[in-house]
Amino acid sequence: MKILILGAPGAGKGTQAKLIAEKYQLAHISTGDIFRSNIQGNTPLGQQAQQYMSQGLLVPDELTIALVKDYLETNHFENGYILDGFPRTIPQAESFDAYLASKQECMDYVIDIEIPDEFILDRMSGRRVCTKCGATYHIVNSPSKKEGICDTCGTALIQREDDQAETVKKRLEVYHAETQPLIDHYKGKAKYLPVDGTGSVEEVFASLNKMLGA
Ligand SMILES: [Zn+2]
Repeated sequence: MKILILGAPGAGKGTQAKLIAEKYQLAHISTGDIFRSNIQGNTPLGQQAQQYMSQGLLVPDELTIALVKDYLETNHFENGYILDGFPRTIPQAESFDAYLASKQECMDYVIDIEIPDEFILDRMSGRRVCTKCGATYHIVNSPSKKEGICDTCGTALIQREDDQAETVKKRLEVYHAETQPLIDHYKGKAKYLPVDGTGSVEEVFASLNKMLGA
């Protein structure tokens, strides 16, 4: 079984991918992990990727595809895998389709965790973190006992730049702009499984299980 999982930042995509991977004994493949392991292992592809990443640049499509293929060819995931964060662009998707076709394989499912943007904005912009002990809070869902102060160590809580409303809005815009073409691309090629992502982790996972036929 080969699955691509899509979901906006803050939609809980990584968590669901991990649960699905465990339940169906699939490899959970994230490009971030592949980049990191190649860089740590100082492989030729890893060295190339690092040149881009150290300058804060996106790793180009061709190199990303080469890294993913190399990873799949090295590991032979007999049961299949769930892709998290790849393919991200149409050139990546087309190249990956061709790769799968060359092995008489195809993408089986595209899971799309759907959450309204406002919901994600509330979820993310309410986060507060303690820079000293790493504890995390949410001003509505799990507030600290004393506003703005860490329960564990008494340090002042901060909002990370990544969680600020303007930053989240920009990331959501980018996400939608790059994801809609991917959804269109896979329609008719793979089974499209949109799921309501506003429930709890367990609820979302239960809906996914139902759709995957377990
Ligand atoms: Zn603390």
